[in-house]
Amino acid sequence: MLYDNLTINDRGHLTIAGHDTTELVREYGTPLMVLDEDRVRARCRTYVEALREHFPAGSLPLYASKALSFKEIYRLAATEGMGIDVVSIGEIHTAQQAGFPLERAYFHGNNKTDEDIAFAMEHGVGYFVCDNLDELDAIDAKAGRRGIRQKLLLRLTPGIDPHTHEKINTGRIDSKFGAAIETGQAEELVVRALSKQNVELLGYHCHIGSQIFDHTPFCDAAILMLQFLADMRDRHGFCAPVLNLGGGMGVPYTDTDPVIDYKANIEKIGKLVADTCKKLNIPAPAILMEPGRSLVADACTTLYTVGGTKVIPGFKNYVSVDGGMTDNPRYALYQAAYTVALANRMQDPADFCCTVAGRCCESGDLIQEDVTIPTPRRGDLLAVFTTGAYNYSMASNYNRVPRPAMVALSDGQHRLVIRRESLDDLTRNDV
Ligand SMILES: *Cc1c(COP(=O)(O)O)cnc(C)c1O
Repeated sequence: MLYDNLTINDRGHLTIAGHDTTELVREYGTPLMVLDEDRVRARCRTYVEALREHFPAGSLPLYASKALSFKEIYRLAATEGMGIDVVSIGEIHTAQQAGFPLERAYFHGNNKTDEDIAFAMEHGVGYFVCDNLDELDAIDAKAGRRGIRQKLLLRLTPGIDPHTHEKINTGRIDSKFGAAIETGQAEELVVRALSKQNVELLGYHCHIGSQIFDHTPFCDAAILMLQFLADMRDRHGFCAPVLNLGGGMGVPYTDTDPVIDYKANIEKIGKLVADTCKKLNIPAPAILMEPGRSLVADACTTLYTVGGTKVIPGFKNYVSVDGGMTDNPRYALYQAAYTVALANRMQDPADFCCTVAGRCCESGDLIQEDVTIPTPRRGDLLAVFTTGAYNYSMASNYNRVPRPAMVALSDGQHRLVIRRESLDDLTRNDV
């Protein structure tokens, strides 16, 4: 099986953390997202402990909550002692409603509106990650009017190509995010920030991309960022105490993807940061990391009920499920790979090669192509693994399909953490 929390019981059913998926579905219906909370917590602890062990005091992982944002996940991040990264006032609001201590929140985004800036300051968001000069002026002005000194990181692009998918590659010079070191715009942003009365510059941020398996792109980025840090000390007398290396560590979606040792990766980055600081003769900054996908992706499975099966002789076969791009747009967006299984017949021979199609009126509404499973029958249960990140958070109501429910599994118990959307929810804002 793809992950160690997945097994097959003596009824031939898929179990997740010991729970029979057919029983979960009997209680909660489909489509159902099943989140193994204990697995998320274990991964959080791996990051927290590895950062504590291999980086200077003050180093902390921040959960990049755009991966999966709902109240209970912020409570989880809080109890695991993590910070969070938020990218909108919607995420700030959700975290606040969950009781997350917002002084441990970092506010990202390449276009914070005046309203966003005001909202974040009003609610005591600890740190802004400033994207550009215009935004810096706006943050400074707003902080001045409120009589505060806003703590700040600057988002920089180190010019790294981590060789991941183009749509999730964010650290190159021509990225829409941040200021490039190579063009001199990063330095310009530093000089401007240092001249401001109402912001307190603490350091730099970079995020090079997502679904990266190897530690080397992070090491390359760290070297460039530390070199920049040393240059700014030499040229402007500012020695940044904080460096945020962003998120991006991958997870295996199929059994041909490599398994990732997060602890070992962090240790290698830690060693490199220490060595590089020694070489550059700078005090080692506190290191922040922003894992999103690698905290939640492989802890969640989506369960669908099979509808029709269609055989088009000489062409292809389809199996349709009662969800699709509305709860998981990642295949439609960028042909993301997924592993699927027929959850109620795990031991039947896999003899049917097919495309898993969603229910929406879009030919591109597919979950995966060319998967081989037992020939499905109407009413069977289809599981799609690794749906914790960028699924629910990217979900839509296209075709007025309600968003699915989510249950969390912990300590042998299950509980609803996101209610299924109702038909009335769909019309709530219609006048
Ligand atoms: C998306 C994002 C992350 C998280 O990336 P993952 O690949 O999910 O770990 C972290 N930081 C920033 C700024 C991001 O935009």
